Amino acid sequence: MPFTSLKLHASLLKAIKELGFVKPTPIQTDAIPPGLAGKDLLACASTGSGKTAAFLLPIIQALIDKPRRTTRALVLTPTRELAAQIVEDCNALAVHTPVTCAAIYGGVGMGPQEHALRSGVDVIVATPGRLLDHLRAPYAKLDGLEYLVLDEADRMLDMGFLPDVRRILRQIPTKRQTLFFSATMPPAIATLASEMLKQPTVINLQRQSAPASGITQAIYPVAQELKSALLVELLKRDILRDALVFTRTKHRANRLADHLVKHRVNAARIHGNRSQAQRTEALAGFKSGKYRVLVATDIAARGIDVEALSHVVNFDVPAVPDDYIHRVGRTGRAEMTGDAFTFVSPEEGADLKAIERAVGKSLPRVTLPDFDYAARPQAKLEIPIAERIAEIRRRKSDERARRAAKGRGPSASPGRGPSSSPGPHRSAAPHRPGGPSRPGGPHRRRSPR
Ligand code: AMP
Repeated sequence: MPFTSLKLHASLLKAIKELGFVKPTPIQTDAIPPGLAGKDLLACASTGSGKTAAFLLPIIQALIDKPRRTTRALVLTPTRELAAQIVEDCNALAVHTPVTCAAIYGGVGMGPQEHALRSGVDVIVATPGRLLDHLRAPYAKLDGLEYLVLDEADRMLDMGFLPDVRRILRQIPTKRQTLFFSATMPPAIATLASEMLKQPTVINLQRQSAPASGITQAIYPVAQELKSALLVELLKRDILRDALVFTRTKHRANRLADHLVKHRVNAARIHGNRSQAQRTEALAGFKSGKYRVLVATDIAARGIDVEALSHVVNFDVPAVPDDYIHRVGRTGRAEMTGDAFTFVSPEEGADLKAIERAVGKSLPRVTLPDFDYAARPQAKLEIPIAERIAEIRRRKSDERARRAAKGRGPSASPGRGPSSSPGPHRSAAPHRPGGPSRPGGPHRRRSPR
């Protein structure tokens, strides 16, 4: 079905054409007609499905002919990056209309946001906490609101934002059209949806979550301590042209980015401890090609939308299968294809099994030819807390022994010295991964963008 059969305004069709969208994605085909008809929506859709345009297009269309200077639409979204991305999409889709849009999120000054609220920008895209900060002030009135979007509702729950969302709901008109989007539907989200929606059109609720088609997924079995070396090697051999790399913790993201830079790979990092300016710079640098690799923790990376992103690397296996599907969804967007590599250490086998159950198939195991899987690693990326504590205890006991020995005179032995101890850098067991290399698999070269 072409966009022209969706009864969209000519100015929107023009923008859609300029963006290069040829035909609506499934969520757009399903959501736009009821959205235009003024119905509430309950939709299961994740990043990469085209959901943003699915909720923005009906709202922009409804706002085209309304009087200006009153905020009539609010999009609530969990992260700053998502908010910035939605505003960018809204500006691109509304470019031939008078509809205006502004973002409200933390980490940046309140002034321009206050101005947007005072001047009654048509669409506000906000993270809940910062919006509540504004709503305490008299200038922030959302009495004229007619459209509400809750984006990534399940992520709001994960991040502890549901109380804030409920506080906001108490301050906006109950007579409105509500579009509710969530990748998954845990019970708390289903309850919230039933509180917020009136006879909604339900889309895709029964859909078994699966990554977008066109994605090549592969598993690289590798010892934990060799993951950084494997990543560098994949980059050096140009098997990875650029990549969004996910790590389990901020600490690992930092250490990995440092490791890449040390090996002359331009890399940036994005995680919760980075300032908004640093995140924006990292993301812009990655988009422009200044950085080949963007290392990210999951939450910080939500909303990252990098056109034609060729690879996602799960440096650590996500503990929750849905996170895997979310992340992998970042490649293979719409008409693109992309690869998703997951590095799996022997300790992560159970998490991988859970993912394979969720995607309904076993994923191919791949080895990188001529990579030294038996190499001795230089240093661990992260020393497990138990090992760090054991190391501190050992040092303290050595010091005590030395002090006691001094007291007893030169004949006494200081006991175990550091060299006899299995210190934190000595326990790396070399691991040879099993499984065949896939000919023509993810090691194929991709044509340049
Ligand atoms: P989203 O799921 O909203 O994050 O969108 C994923 C990506 O798909 C974004 O880069 C959009 O610009 C792009 N996109 C959205 N709709 C379409 C479409 N109909 N055709 C091609 N690309 C699209």
